[in-house]
Amino acid sequence: MSDIDLDRADPGFKHEVARRRGAEGIKRCYACGACSARCPVGELNPDFDPRRLIRLVVLGLRDEVLSSPLLWVCSTCYTCQETCPEGVDFTEVLFVLKNMAVEAGCFPPTLGAQVELLKNHGRLYEITDFENEKRAELGLPPLDERPDDFLALLKDFQPETKGDA
Ligand code: SF4
Ligand code: SF4
Repeated sequence: MSDIDLDRADPGFKHEVARRRGAEGIKRCYACGACSARCPVGELNPDFDPRRLIRLVVLGLRDEVLSSPLLWVCSTCYTCQETCPEGVDFTEVLFVLKNMAVEAGCFPPTLGAQVELLKNHGRLYEITDFENEKRAELGLPPLDERPDDFLALLKDFQPETKGDA
């Protein structure tokens, strides 16, 4: 994550985040660091720091937050939520931030590739004769590709990134 530049701060950003379901408690964070201390991803990747991400949101650094690749490395283990003494649901906050990042066109190229797979195949991988032959050997019925459900859900999603996530 880049250095903090408060000249580009957007004071409304934290309110925008806190209005979204799951992120309402973000303003209660008093930066105790308990979430960061227990985060297993932070242990492996010191750049990933839940407390720092919350501070960046509170400071209004919209672009730094939404374009950060670090939004996408959380393992969704919920340890931070269970640890927070203020009831900040940080895992949910991250879902909110990821949704906002996608709305802003900032997400990893792999996410776009996964969406294309869902649109084309209804799964995260293509079902070929190979898979169905293996299933037949095990006495299992063949799998159909059913992209229609995902097409309805993802019809407005355009997998072109604008940020560096
Ligand atoms: S849910 Fe994500 S941010 Fe929270 S402790 Fe687990 S890996 Fe860390
Ligand atoms: S544990 Fe809760 S209060 Fe402490 S830094 Fe994390 S989110 Fe903020």
